[in-house]
Amino acid sequence: MVTINENRLKKLATLEAIYTLHADLMQTLDLACRAGCDVCCTRNVSLTSLEAVLISNHLKKADRPDLDDSLTAAKNLPRFQPLVTTNGLAHLCRLGKEPPEETVNPDWRPCPFLVDHRCSIYAVRPFACRCMVSKTVCQQDGQAEIDDHLLSLNTVFMQFIEHADVSGYTGNLIDMLLPRTPGAEKSSRISNRPIEMILLPPEHQSRGHDIITKLNALFP
Ligand code: SF4
Ligand code: SF4
Repeated sequence: MVTINENRLKKLATLEAIYTLHADLMQTLDLACRAGCDVCCTRNVSLTSLEAVLISNHLKKADRPDLDDSLTAAKNLPRFQPLVTTNGLAHLCRLGKEPPEETVNPDWRPCPFLVDHRCSIYAVRPFACRCMVSKTVCQQDGQAEIDDHLLSLNTVFMQFIEHADVSGYTGNLIDMLLPRTPGAEKSSRISNRPIEMILLPPEHQSRGHDIITKLNALFP
């Protein structure tokens, strides 16, 4: 019989294998992203509960009370709170329904884990940070420059990351890492869903085939 702990360890191993596959893909790209470049480090980062567990485990070992303080200080600051997950979006798409309107502002920064222009949880940062890349250095008021096919592949990675945590939740980094407050779960955490269909446009399917095969192999 598989215990809850063994099950969680298995899920964490799957998550880390997905991160590794994505890192392999990123290594093939010519990107402007460098250590100390932090325009993208906003409070608008979303993640799954499994990703939050990976970060929490890291924080426990790191013994960084300053990071706990930063998280707590960010509790009442504006941030992006998603209303639909990536697989939830695929579900709506399959039903021909419109997704809910979400509010996000790139000025909602910095992320509470940004210390001296560096990510203090870099090794365990969520996928939303791993896929935030640009071919040119982002300016304060500018956007990242990213190819459409990479955006599509990143969406596929997000779908598999959510699928790996199908009994869990998705929410903002701050909401997911702060201790739960009564009533907060409902408004700030949304239930994950399994993959019903892959969100990959026809023009990107040939490039995505190899990655999807590798991702599928992580779910025997
Ligand atoms: S996405 Fe933009 S701001 Fe972030 S590290 Fe890359 S170039 Fe810098
Ligand atoms: S978790 Fe790290 S990489 Fe992600 S936004 Fe925060 S400081 Fe930046």
